Amino acid sequence: MTIAPDSNRDAPIGILGGTFDPIHFGHLRLAEESCETLGLARVLLIPSGQPPHRAAPATPAKERLAMARLAAEDNAAMEVDAIEVNAATPSYTVHTLERLRERYGAARPLVLLLGADAFAGLTTWHRWQNLFDLAHLAIANRPGHPSHARHLPELLSDALAAHCNGRFADRPEALCAAPSGLVLPFEMTPLAISASLIRSRLSAGRTVRYLIPDSVLDYIHSHHLYT
Ligand code: ATP
Repeated sequence: MTIAPDSNRDAPIGILGGTFDPIHFGHLRLAEESCETLGLARVLLIPSGQPPHRAAPATPAKERLAMARLAAEDNAAMEVDAIEVNAATPSYTVHTLERLRERYGAARPLVLLLGADAFAGLTTWHRWQNLFDLAHLAIANRPGHPSHARHLPELLSDALAAHCNGRFADRPEALCAAPSGLVLPFEMTPLAISASLIRSRLSAGRTVRYLIPDSVLDYIHSHHLYT
């Protein structure tokens, strides 16, 4: 089901964190389609500073942030937020959500957007049970990943019920009725694009045109990244 874009000041705010090394059309379609399908007011794109879950990205945070800004510059519904890049401490998602909750107040629905691969690893995240006290989670399908959104309820519903306040929702409208606590799988156009694929093609001298925005590709070339 599709909800018309909502300019309402009370509509949910989407949050898409990532290493964005580099940002690509998979990220941008996830942000764009979640806005449309979930009726979000806008999506915050939040490049990580020093991600706690993985090795440091190849590219400095300043450059990943610059590429995200270029990618989002002509879309009024996308806002790049340097909250994690500017943080002095590691970028745990729960800390970022706590800061966003302070910024937007207790009542505003916040929706953490995740691909199915990211959601499948959720129970390894720092204070993961607390995420549901701070935001809803919306989970997009991702090609090549076995945890397609349709199968996620079976995978994690027991853990959710046992350890936290999270509950699965079956319709986007439910996200407006509470500030946090729901998990909603949703379908997006499947795009088998990953930052790893972009990096490996670039380092092999192969084309990545039409996988990332031209402005990001120009930045990569002019800053001699991923060579
Ligand atoms: P890498 O290949 O370096 O692991 P990535 O392409 O997965 O990177 P991230 O910045 O780690 O990019 O992803 C940020 C978020 O975007 C995650 O929740 C991830 O699941 C989601 N995401 C990334 N690419 C896609 C895609 N093609 N389809 C759906 N979700 C995606």
